[in-house]
This record gives sequence, C-alpha cells and structure tokens, in this order.
Amino acid sequence: MTPTKFTKILSTLGPASAKPATIRALVEAGADVFRLNFSHGSHEQHREVHAMIRAVEAELGRPIGILMDLQGPKLRLGTFAEGKVSLPAGHRIRFDLDRTPGDATRVAIPHPEIIGAVSAGHELLIDDGKMRLTVVASGEGWVEAQTQTAGVLSDRKGVNVPSVTLPLSAMTDKDHADLLFGLGLGVDWVALSFVQRPEDLIEARAIIGERALLMAKVEKPAALACLEGIIAESDGIMVARGDLGVELPAEEVPVQQKRIVAACREAGKPVVIATQMLESMITAPSPTRAEVSDVATAVFDGVDAVMLSAESASGAYPVEAVSMMARIIARTEADPLQRKLMEAISSRVAATGTDAVGTAIRAVSAALPVSATVAFTASGSTTLRIANQRPRSPVVSLSPRAEVAGRLALVWGVRSRRCDTECASDAEMVAEATAACQAEGLIKPGAAVLLTAGVPFGTPGSTNLMRVVWPD
Ligand code: PGA
Ligand code: MN
Repeated sequence: MTPTKFTKILSTLGPASAKPATIRALVEAGADVFRLNFSHGSHEQHREVHAMIRAVEAELGRPIGILMDLQGPKLRLGTFAEGKVSLPAGHRIRFDLDRTPGDATRVAIPHPEIIGAVSAGHELLIDDGKMRLTVVASGEGWVEAQTQTAGVLSDRKGVNVPSVTLPLSAMTDKDHADLLFGLGLGVDWVALSFVQRPEDLIEARAIIGERALLMAKVEKPAALACLEGIIAESDGIMVARGDLGVELPAEEVPVQQKRIVAACREAGKPVVIATQMLESMITAPSPTRAEVSDVATAVFDGVDAVMLSAESASGAYPVEAVSMMARIIARTEADPLQRKLMEAISSRVAATGTDAVGTAIRAVSAALPVSATVAFTASGSTTLRIANQRPRSPVVSLSPRAEVAGRLALVWGVRSRRCDTECASDAEMVAEATAACQAEGLIKPGAAVLLTAGVPFGTPGSTNLMRVVWPD
C-alpha cells in the first residue's frame, strides 16, 4: 500500500526507467501517472512501455494513468557546415529558408511561418534562450538579426519566438500520426505542447473525441493572454515551466504559476506543475532545499499533481526522486497550514446537483470524522467535481467504465476503482461503498463513510444524494 497522499505524482518514463521492475518500483514509491514523451522514441518503443505499464497495473491491481505528451511545433535551426559557429556580440546573421548548411553569415530556420511572422524589434531565442538575437530587418523569405551577447549557434538548436503568436497549429504532421498511434494504444490523457489559443484544443479534441482527456501545456506567452479560454477547452492544464521560462523572464514564472493554478482551481480543472522540480536529482541522490520547497509550494497551493521529467526518465535516481516527492507531499499535507493555504482558493460552485452535493460533502467532512467519500459515477465527472472542492478525506470513485480509473489517477485525492454491478438497492450501495473503502485501507474506527450517487442509476449528471454511513 502506498502512503496516503492527496497530491498525485506524474513521472516521465525514459531510458533510465522504462523497464518493468523500475516501473513497478516507481508505482510503489508513489507514482500515479506515467508520461510517455513523444519528443523521443519510436512508436515501437512507446508500444512496449505502454504494455509494461498496463502489465504492472494488472499485477498490482491498482489503476495507473498514462499520459502521452505530443512534441508539438518545436522550432529548430537548420545545420551548419562546421556543426556550429561562434558569434561575437552585435554580430548580424541572416536566417532564411535555404537548407544548405550555414555559416556565420547565414543559416536556415526551415519554418516559413516564423520567417513570415517576425519583423524588426522581435526577439529570437535559440538553444533554450542561451543565445538571444534581436531582429533588425526582414524581407521575403529572410530575417536579419543581431546577437545581444557573444555565443555559439549549433545544428538543430531550438528556436523560440516569444513575442508573436505564430500562425502554427499546435499539431504537426508528426503529432497527428503520434496521436492516432497513442489513441490506438489506449492512453488516458493527451498533452498538447506549445498551445497558443483555444482553437488548438478544439482541433485536437475533434480527433480525440471521447477516447482520452486533453491537457494543455501552458508554455507560451500567447497562451497566457487567453488563459481562461484555454482552460475552458481543456480537461486539465500543465504549467510547463521549462519552455515558459525560456519565453518569459525567469522572475515571471512563479507569478504565472500561481495565476494559472488559481484559475484552474477556480474553474475546477486539474492542474499539474512540471519541470525542474527535483532537477538536481538527475545526478544526485538528494535534492536541494530549494527544490524541496518548490514541490511543497505546489502542494500548499492544492495542485492536482507534480511532475518529474529527466529526474525519472534519464536521471541516475528515478525511484529515489519519486519517493522523495512522495515524502515531501506526505509531510506537507500533514501540516495544518497546508489545508488553510489550499482553501484560500476555492472552486466556483455551479448551480448543479453535483456541486451542491460536493459542497455538502466538504461541510460534513469538516464536522464529522470521515474515512472517505465514495462517489458512484459513470463518466468520472462527479468524482472530479467533488475532488475539486478538496474534501478532508480521500474520494473513492466507483465506475463501471474501465477507462475512467486511469483518467482520474491524475486528480487530487482520488482513488479510482472499477465496480461491475449497478446497485439495485440502497443496501447494496452501502455495502459496495463500504467494501471499496475497506479494500483501499481507508476505514478508520469511529469514522463515517460518505456516499454520493445519482439515483436511480444510469442518468449522467444526476447526482442527487449524499448519505452518511457508519460502518460497523
Ligand atoms: P517538455 O514540456 O518537457 O515537453 O518541454 C515541459 C516544459 O516545457 O516545461
Ligand atoms: Mn515544453
């Protein structure tokens, strides 16, 4: 049994961890959801890793979420005749569409969309912002830019253009192919990279339909300018601090993180904090104090999940990184101040039966000792709304649909289970709920179990019941 924690852990798999024994160890250390990063690896590799996760899931008898992360329109430089060039400060270089290897006078940016969209005054950031250039002139098929400092440009380095909304879809041809492949495997979530506008999500949703939930990675200033619309079109949001920190000044990132988290919590959408959370554990068995504090801050803010990237994908201590995260979460959640700070933000309560019952559950679980709330749900949406209100004890979600459990694995405080039968009687419902709490090891002596459902069963969105059960 993993330790009781409300905040979930999203762990990226890669060469250091994509092995059955390690995946199992990561789950036992506290990983709830795995990220398959489609910026790397072949379809064959992803298929194998997906199968490994599902095998561990079956073996441990506990749902594990799988999130596929699409690469998105990551823009890159062309190549150089010598592999790289060293440029002094104030040096002018031309970027064009000609794929012939470049030199100190010119090099390709083989993306007509960028070349066409930038003009004098815009900034080009290359190699995660290590090289910054200011565009000084532009014409048909070329731009000329001046280096702000001395530095090196080399083959295929990433290019960021923070100051313009590029006329690019968030999905490339590769993303389309990857998405269809991932949906075929049966992933629970799809993350869309470099989202710029709500339409990007609508476009992806048209392909995905009901087959998976959709997460927007917020990593562009353009996305911040239409955050509410992006949240409305997504099932969840990732604060993708890596690219966000390249496109924005570093000191903006924590401010925007708080803003995105508050907006998601108010809207009742799951939110994930990503990138560099325990970065030093890529090479060291223990994190820095500042990293521990960063994870704790996300927990204090009441986010749904915290993420590991290279720490668990390619670092030397993947299992240690997950168990460190789990310990930080458990300790922070045990602090009375955590609840107070988390409750400083509350979700907007809609005028629905579900939200009314969610409010009641929150109030009852503050007044009575409660082991858990059991939500009978078909689609998982009742569970999600109840968890959004951050009750004081776990939410056990019971759904007959197999795919719901993996999706909810990412959500704060939720333990998802499959229930095969629709309860015909009241007594059956109580028995089923109590048994589920028992199986999760959640029953505390002298504490109630709260039960919620829409009765009669089978009408979606009909949550109309909350019941206090005292297990004997
Ligand atoms: P990435 O996304 O790891 O796919 O780049 C996360 C981020 O940019 O922070
Ligand atoms: Mn990114």
